[in-house]
Amino acid sequence: MFQDFKNFLFPKLCACCDAVLLKYEPLLCTFCRNELPLYPNFFDGDHDLHKILYGRVPLQHAACLFYFEKKSIIQNLIHDLKYKGNEELSFHLGEWLGELLLEAGWHNSIDLVIPVPLHKKRLRERGYNQVEGFGKAIAKELSVPYNDVCLKRRSTSATQVFKNRLARTEVVKNHFYVVGNNSLSGEHVLLVDDLVTTGATLEACYLALKTADIEHISIATIAITK
Ligand SMILES: [Zn+2]
Repeated sequence: MFQDFKNFLFPKLCACCDAVLLKYEPLLCTFCRNELPLYPNFFDGDHDLHKILYGRVPLQHAACLFYFEKKSIIQNLIHDLKYKGNEELSFHLGEWLGELLLEAGWHNSIDLVIPVPLHKKRLRERGYNQVEGFGKAIAKELSVPYNDVCLKRRSTSATQVFKNRLARTEVVKNHFYVVGNNSLSGEHVLLVDDLVTTGATLEACYLALKTADIEHISIATIAITK
């Protein structure tokens, strides 16, 4: 009863279109849930992630939940995740993809889930990493650990040093490092991120993880640019 009154005063809105949600619509309205551009055949060997990262990251498995298009409801969704601190939504999307990954048997080979880390400064500004809920939900579905302490991003000032000397892509490659070597030896890591465009960040994370002697890498993201 109290909950109903609270919802009347502060109605919950759809993360994509801001429509008032009905009682049984969690986070997204039924219209948006059906309209979101789901990535088709995401277990296929022809996955766009394989193409984007070809010759750069030796991917075992690749999965994306959505296609990303500008000026579409998916852009609103990603914006809500990044700037409105919608952690619940991040977790919800992880459950959505996690169930599909479980069906595809990913739990048989993945050892742990690692998120692409945020800058410390940005983490302070936003208060959370928008990929955290997504990664945690996938780890929960696959019954594997979630580890957000081993892979770190260097502070901006540290990378600034490289900026004058190296090309931009080279700079990105130096952005990440693994804390305490060998802790990931022989592991099959599932790296998770929100949106893939050029794959430079994912490649940089892979290069850092490789120095920690991981055995395999797979990647799952919320969206991929079309
Ligand atoms: Zn909606």
